[in-house]
Formats: sequence, structure tokens, C-alpha cells
Amino acid sequence: MSESMNPRTVAAANGIAAEDTFGAVTPPICLSSTFTWPGFGRKGPHDYTRTSNPTRTLLADTLAKLEGGAGAVVVSSGMAAIDLVLSQLSSDDIVIVPHDCYGGTHRLLLNRRDRGHFKVRFVDQNDKAALASALKEKPKLILIETPSNPLMRIVDIRAIVAQARTVGAKVAVDNTFLSPALQRPIALGADFVIHSTTKYLNGHSDIVGGAVIAADSADVEALETWANIVGTTGAPFDSFLALRGIRTLFPRVECQQRNAQAVAEFLLSHPLVAACHYPGLPSHPGHAVAKAQQSGFGAMLSFELKGGEVEAGRFVEAVRLFCFAESLGGTESLVAHPATMTHAGMSDEARKAAGITSGLIRLSIGLEDAADLIADLDQALAAIDRPVRSQASA
Ligand SMILES: *Cc1c(COP(=O)(O)O)cnc(C)c1O
Repeated sequence: MSESMNPRTVAAANGIAAEDTFGAVTPPICLSSTFTWPGFGRKGPHDYTRTSNPTRTLLADTLAKLEGGAGAVVVSSGMAAIDLVLSQLSSDDIVIVPHDCYGGTHRLLLNRRDRGHFKVRFVDQNDKAALASALKEKPKLILIETPSNPLMRIVDIRAIVAQARTVGAKVAVDNTFLSPALQRPIALGADFVIHSTTKYLNGHSDIVGGAVIAADSADVEALETWANIVGTTGAPFDSFLALRGIRTLFPRVECQQRNAQAVAEFLLSHPLVAACHYPGLPSHPGHAVAKAQQSGFGAMLSFELKGGEVEAGRFVEAVRLFCFAESLGGTESLVAHPATMTHAGMSDEARKAAGITSGLIRLSIGLEDAADLIADLDQALAAIDRPVRSQASA
């Protein structure tokens, strides 16, 4: 497959019909933990699966091509991918991270900071003054999440990269919420792209995995070395499944975001909904930037119920088609309550600063029929004040 192939073609066909022994069209899975040496002092292309494995290498190659990077390192989870990028920092280095970053990322950063592994500055990256003053400290790394979780805030990757360059900082973008089908941060200037392959890339909610794609081959090598040292490289079976999921990445994401747009428009007009956060709505503050740097608005959204935790609890227990579960990016639609689930580990203060209220609900929109999804949300919203009504009539 030539380097210039469209990412859509890479997803569908990278590594297809490349196996010589049997002429297998689908790349076979190679589970072997160890590989024979062709001779004394002569290593083959793979020697031990922690270090490298044919199935994982094909996934890494596919991810690198999809994101337009020099190479990729496939690891055991999205958290391991973020930790792999952070592993390149030393104790005096500063990393700038979004004030509203993913809950697991927040926990990882605090725990490593408290052990003296690096210094952290939480910054609202849309606040130009705050970002400028943080840059004066000469950070080594800026971590970006756009759209953010769960409020779908958008930051301008190109603009932040330009500022990072002035102080020599590298930029890593967690691209989990969009996938390379909708956003390619390296083309916007980023040095690293991070994925939880658990989400859209695998797309079927049946593995936990992660990857880092680097623009520069020296960075790829450094990350590969570290992943081998600490032993966080991904399992071959998970790599096989992720690759299988990637074959349908583009059509899945395109269908899911069509559904998400319809759901967002429904929620926006509902009387029990105080706000709907979806970058595809013209009223969303990040709409213009999202339109410029993304090739679609994605299939994640969140909304605020009029009310708080009680109303949110009733709502999530009333949905029938949506599953009440964490995670995202699968073929099935999920509903989650960030304040008590994905972001429960954050302090009340940090949650408040990030704007995560008790009435906030997050949706991951799947491949079901849009009208069925809307009907389910409609009946669950109607159920919110039902317990009150039955009490009143009793
Ligand atoms: C899920 C997620 C992660 C963590 O990935 P795991 O595979 O669960 O370890 C990191 N960042 C974002 C944006 C995520 O959604």
C-alpha cells in the first residue's frame, strides 16, 4: 500500500492479502510469545512479543498511516498510552494539561506529580491569558483534549501548537473522542496523538487498548523503547480485534455522527433540557473551530437536565435502548452520569472548576436508528417527574 493512500483506504485495506504461506486475505493473528532465531547471533524480525509482535506491528503501522505519523506504539490501554508520553518527562519538567481533562488522566497526573515525576499546570486552554502565563514557565509538553470530556469544549490545535513552538514545548493531542476519521492532529502540527483504542478505533466495546502515534521517528523509537522497558505493550489478540474494528471505522463514525446531530437537535428543543453540548450545533461556542479543524462533529454529546442528581438518577434508570454504562465509541448507545461515574475521582472543587454539574448527562451515540434513540430519550425525560406525580396522587 503506497504512502499516499486515502485514510479511508488504509482503514479498509492496510495489510490485506499480505500473507504468503496460505494466501490469507485477512491478516492472521500471531499469538506466539517468542520467535526462533534464524542463527547464532542473528535475530529475526521479531524475538519476543513484549518487544514486538507481527499482529501488533500491523496495527501500529495502520494507526501511523491513519494519523499521518512516522510510527505508532500500541499499548495495553488508553491510560498506558498517556503514561507513555508522560514517561519522557523528568522531575523538573512542566506539563500543561486541560483543566477539564479526562478523569483517569487527571488521576494519573496528580499521582505522578505527587511522586515527583514532573510538574503539572491545569489550564483552561481557551483562556489566552492563562495559557500565555503558563507558557512563560517553559513547559516541556502541552496535552490537548479536543473535544473535551464531557463538556465537548473545543480548543484550536493549530493555535496552541504555534504558541508551544515559541517555547520549545511538544504537543500531544488525545484524539480518542474523534478518531483519525474526523481529526488528524499531526497535520495540524501536533507531535503526538494519543488514543484509547477501546473507543472508536476498536468500536465494538470488547477490548481495552491504547496507542501513541508520533510525528517524528526519534520519538517513535524512544516510546517503543520505554513501552518495552516497562512492559505495557498491547496483547496480540487485542491488536487483532482493534485492527478488525478499524476496517469499518469510517462508515461507523459517519453513521454515528449523523445520529448524534439528530439527537442533539432533539435535546436542544426539549423543555426539560437546560443546555446541550454538541459541537455540531451552531450555538456551540466551539462550532467554528471544530468545523475548521475536524472533518465531522463526532458522536459524543452531553446535556444538562433542569434539576440535579435526583433527576439525573431517574433519567438514567428510565432509558431502555441506551445502556447505562461508562465508555464510548461502540456500536451501541451509552448513557453516563459524569459526576458519579467517569469524573467521580475528581475533588468537588476540580469538578466545579471543570463545569461538571450533578445534572449533566453524557451520551455516546451508536448505530441504532436515530428515531428509536430519540424516542427512548423522550420517554426517559418524561419519566423524570413521574415518581413525584405518583406520590402526589397517592
Ligand atoms: C477512555 C479514555 C481514556 C483512557 O483509556 P482506557 O482505554 O480506558 O485506559 C483516555 N482519554 C480519553 C479521552 C478517554 O475517553
